[in-house]
Amino acid sequence: MTAVSVRDLSFSWKRNEPATLEILEWQVQNGETLLLRGPSGSGKSTLLSLLAGINSPQKGELSLFGTPLSKLSGRQRDRFRADNIGYIFQQFNLLPYLSALDNALLACQFSSIRKERIAKAGETPEASAHNMLKRLGLSESQIQQPAHSLSVGQQQRVAAARALLGAPPLLIADEPTSALDAEHRDSFIQLLLELSAKNDTTVIFVTHDAALSRYFDSHVELNDLNKAGVTA
Ligand code: ADP
Ligand code: MG
Repeated sequence: MTAVSVRDLSFSWKRNEPATLEILEWQVQNGETLLLRGPSGSGKSTLLSLLAGINSPQKGELSLFGTPLSKLSGRQRDRFRADNIGYIFQQFNLLPYLSALDNALLACQFSSIRKERIAKAGETPEASAHNMLKRLGLSESQIQQPAHSLSVGQQQRVAAARALLGAPPLLIADEPTSALDAEHRDSFIQLLLELSAKNDTTVIFVTHDAALSRYFDSHVELNDLNKAGVTA
């Protein structure tokens, strides 16, 4: 099955303004790990917001796992996102006064399907979040600490745990490593891919750093994919 399928897509932020994105055809296969690279301002985050159903293209088709997002109401898109997409934001978007554990558990709060996947594996959400955080390298005491008291690297691991909890079939990461040094960055990516591979998760990892492409099945340059602004 195809994880992401895009055809004749066009998106502009404002009516009557030139399109930020124009993509004729793009597919990501189920289980594929893909690095999406482009310079700052090229539209990477915009594309991710369309994949997540946060914004909608003015034109064209965008399907995730065979479901055309345009056929869903706003509320159905919110549900679809909660069930199917783990999202690691550039700034992590953790709730600062909640513990690492409670931040990770937020993933299940809006998705009974994620809770069911955990139950099928014979776990509780609490146990699963705890195991995931340990697997990502947090200590017992760090797991109980409020997110604001953790280092940037630890916060990033909490964001990863939240994204992966309940095994969503698609993981989206928007430049989550830009605050890390090279060594931490590489070990984080390898761990993220290892955890994703267990569930055959499709991974779309956005960065401006082409050197990271060695960790991924495929490498797409947004400027090759995106025809907006290109004149023949
Ligand atoms: P990248 O993630 O590759 O750095 P973005 O997708 O954030 O690029 O931005 C692409 C273009 O869209 C930029 O010109 C930016 O100014 C514009 N843009 C991004 N977010 C918004 C927004 N919320 N409203 C209006 N324009 C936006
Ligand atoms: Mg961005």
